[in-house]
Parts: sequence; structure tokens; C-alpha cells
Amino acid sequence: MIIGFIGLGIMGLPMATNLVTAGHDVRAYNRSPREFSGTVADSAAAAVTGADVVITMLPDSPDVEAVVLGPDGVLAAAAPGTLLIDMSTIAPATARTIADAATEAGFRALDAPVSGGEQGAIDGALSIMVGGAADDFQAAKPVLDVLGSTVVHVGPAGSGQTVKAANQLIVAGTIGLVAEALTFLAAHSVDLEPAVAVLAGGLAGNRILDRKAAGMIAHHFEPGFRIDLHHKDLGIVVDSARAAGVTVPLGAVAAQLMGAARAQGHGSLDHSALLLVIEALSKR
Ligand code: NAD
Repeated sequence: MIIGFIGLGIMGLPMATNLVTAGHDVRAYNRSPREFSGTVADSAAAAVTGADVVITMLPDSPDVEAVVLGPDGVLAAAAPGTLLIDMSTIAPATARTIADAATEAGFRALDAPVSGGEQGAIDGALSIMVGGAADDFQAAKPVLDVLGSTVVHVGPAGSGQTVKAANQLIVAGTIGLVAEALTFLAAHSVDLEPAVAVLAGGLAGNRILDRKAAGMIAHHFEPGFRIDLHHKDLGIVVDSARAAGVTVPLGAVAAQLMGAARAQGHGSLDHSALLLVIEALSKR
């Protein structure tokens, strides 16, 4: 297939590379130039002209709106009928707006945000939560199967993003609790490695302990997933909860702590650097 791919960042570059490896003709555009094993396009319009499928992997809602709906954007340059798959994490309401505009212009659109981080992108092992029409999901499945090992249709347009918001709520809360546990254990002079090993084997076991605790203990916060992006996602969680009339008290605390991490200048560190805020609260 001819795939137009926009956004070659931490996630987009390995994803686009896996599509090339799988034999697709991938034409990719990134705002700042990037080395890429497929074809590099010099504009979004050039990347999507003649494409069967267009994938966007951009930071935030305004970026996807500009690239898809803008004057030189995807809807202006690609042919009607093209399947648009936005894999960025954006607001569910924006995903629905984009899907409506795309459908009106004769396109097919899916929101398909991912979880699994940079390593999941490199390994083609992402978890992909897809919102949109069932037949569009079936059409996208062979492409998504190259990028992910868990690919699930979760409902109509926007629902992929709603599930992703729930994912980010759980991940932020869990990082916060792991950070508190590490700070608590260190204050009691407990050896952290064996403590994490035994915690990971019991009911407290979780992926943050498995994948992030060692880096947190060593204070290695190379991203990964940047604090700035998780701050954006917790804004989506809190706004979407409010719009639905539900309360997410632990999520609200996690959002405030993530905001503090950003305000303290840690925005470009991995989200596990939330530990720095928890430590600072106790002057550790
Ligand atoms: P990133 O900032 O590394 O990559 C985004 C890329 O988009 C950058 O290379 C940037 O130059 C490019 N870009 C921005 N605006 C553009 C435009 N108008 N036209 C062309 N290119 C443009 O971010 P990332 O970590 O790859 O994340 C991308 C999306 O995936 C975000 O929505 C993020 O929340 C989500 N996500 C990230 C991770 C992770 O672990 N990094 C995991 C799951 C989901």
C-alpha cells in the first residue's frame, strides 16, 4: 500500500520504519527534517498525494487539526476515499470533529491512539485502541497489525481517544504511587532493588514497577514519554471527565503533580521524573 505518514518523532519514526520493513511504500513528512528509510516528502500535501492510507502521529489536538483540516492539509491534498488513521493522543471531541469533517469530504477516518511507549513502537508491539466504523477498522487492520500486537476496535469515532485517556489516567496515577513508594522506602533506608523485586511479584505488581522503577531509582529520566505530553493527556482526562459529569479525584491530583513537574522545568524529561516532584514535597 502507499502510506502517507506525518510526524516522525519518538513514536512516528519507528512506526513508519516498521511499515517500510513490512513492504509498504511509505512517504513521510516531519516539520523538522528527519532521516528515514522510506521516502521523505517535503510537505504534508506531498506525503499524502496518491496515498491509500494516511497516518498522523503528532503531538496534540491543534497539530492534528492543522495537518488534517488546514489549507494545505490532508483533506485538501489526498483523494476522497482515502483511509485516515490518526494515531496521536488528542482530545476525543477533536477526534470526532476531524472524523465528521473527513466523512463530509468523502474520506474514511479512524482515531487509533497507542500505548506501549517507544520500545513498543520499535518492536511493533503497541496496544492500539481504535474508534470509528467497523468496516474502516477491518480495512485498517492489516496496517495496524504491523505496528501493534493488541489492536482492538472499541467503538465509534472518538472512543479510541476516550480509552487512551483512561490509559493515561491509570499510568499517571501508577507512576505517582510508585514514586511515593520509592520515596517512602528510601526514607526508611530500605534497599530499593530487592524491595521492588518482591513488590513486583505480588498484588502491587504493575508495568511501571517492571519498566520504570529501575530508571527511577537511578534517576535516569531520558524520554520515553515526555512530562509535557503526559501533562497534555491529563488535561484531556480532566476535561473529558468534566464533560461527562464524572469525578476523577485521584486523576486530578495526578494532573496537578504532573503540572508541577512541568512548572519545575522537567517537561522534556520522561514522565517517571514525577518522582522528582514527590521527593521535593518531602525535601528528599
Ligand atoms: P514527538 O514530539 O517526539 O513527535 C512529534 C513529531 O511531530 C515531531 O517530530 C514534530 O517535529 C512533528 N510535528 C509537529 N507538528 C508537525 C506538523 N505540523 N507537521 C509535521 N510534523 C509535525 O512526540 P511522540 O512522543 O512521538 O508522540 C506523538 C504522539 O503519540 C503524541 O500525541 C503522544 O502523546 C503520543 N504517544 C507517545 C508515546 C511515547 O511514549 N512517546 C506513547 C504513546 C502515545
